[in-house]
Amino acid sequence: MTFKDLNLAESLLQTLTAIGYSTPTEIQQKAIPHLILGKDIFGCAQTGTGKTAAFALPILQHLNGKRHQGIKALVLAPTRELASQISENIAAYSKNTHLTHATIFGGVSQKNQEQILRKQIDILVATPGRLLDLMQQGIIRLNTIEYFVLDEADRMLDMGFIRDIKKIIATLPQKRQTMFFSATVSPEIKELSNKILVNPIYVSVTPVSSAAPLIEQSLFYVDQQDKRSLLLHLLKKEGIENALVFTRTKRGANKVAKDLNNVGIKTEAIHGNKSQSARERALHDFKNKSLRVLVATDLASRGIDIDKLSHVINYEIPDVPETYVHRIGRTGRAGATGIAYSFCAHDEKSNIKSIQKLIQKSIPVVSNHPYAHPSSKPENFRLEIQNS
Ligand code: AMP
Repeated sequence: MTFKDLNLAESLLQTLTAIGYSTPTEIQQKAIPHLILGKDIFGCAQTGTGKTAAFALPILQHLNGKRHQGIKALVLAPTRELASQISENIAAYSKNTHLTHATIFGGVSQKNQEQILRKQIDILVATPGRLLDLMQQGIIRLNTIEYFVLDEADRMLDMGFIRDIKKIIATLPQKRQTMFFSATVSPEIKELSNKILVNPIYVSVTPVSSAAPLIEQSLFYVDQQDKRSLLLHLLKKEGIENALVFTRTKRGANKVAKDLNNVGIKTEAIHGNKSQSARERALHDFKNKSLRVLVATDLASRGIDIDKLSHVINYEIPDVPETYVHRIGRTGRAGATGIAYSFCAHDEKSNIKSIQKLIQKSIPVVSNHPYAHPSSKPENFRLEIQNS
């Protein structure tokens, strides 16, 4: 099945091709045709399944090409990380449209957000607390909402947002399309969804959990400030033909690329701030081997389809365990063997634990490298596993 089969508009199809999505994920296949017809949905799906595009593409299709007044779509997410991630996706998917979006969350000054909200915003991505705050101050009105997404509803309830959510929903117009996503289904989730959905379709998908068996995975415990030296060490010592290096942030990607170029290793960074042509050029050079290293953020890395990629290096460990599986799946394609290295600093250990739980195995630790953190000694590592 292709995106074309899902009744998506030509301009969105072009965008998807440009960012490298070739096949819709399961939730996209199951949800998008119904959402384009305006149905409500209860989606049982985790992050990592492609659910953001599943709800965002139909919203963009509905809103595209019209002039709007007031906020038309609201996406509520439990954490600022998830809200930012959703926004980054919406930015990519809406590149060929005139639609505007904004992100608001707590923990940062309100001033910038106020300023952004003075302009027409078509799609608002928000966490509940700050949204309610701004609503109560009269800065945001939701009476023009036509599309409402409640993402990770189960996490919202766990985090104690139920009262905020109910207050927000009470201000939304009755006539709207509602999309409800939750990784788990409890009686509370059922009750909440029953209250806000009208004749929904139900879609449930299982998350990715298994990495390709042919990928040799290794874990390097290393202090954050030594990651750069470790990367250089490996690129010099190991027979690394080409490597895709993952960082969490755009800034991090730029920094790694700069460091490697400074020592004569030809590297480019690709991320959301790079133009389409710069990204294509970098990919082209990487594929024809004139670049040895490509540094990418997760979003930008989508669609990087390189036949013979020898190494994937997780310079930073992703927060979402499924992302790890997606990342390392870039190597070891089509029966080829591949190698995945992960650099884990102290504050990333809990991410590794979640990853190991997801893939149901512990990643072998390399302790004989010059920047080894004491916890990478085999005896300490065994202790950690026992305690986990
Ligand atoms: P999500 O579950 O929405 O957080 O998506 C997980 C990851 O999959 C994100 O990095 C998306 O960019 C990526 N993604 C979503 N849909 C597709 C697709 N059809 N093909 C390739 N990557 C995708």
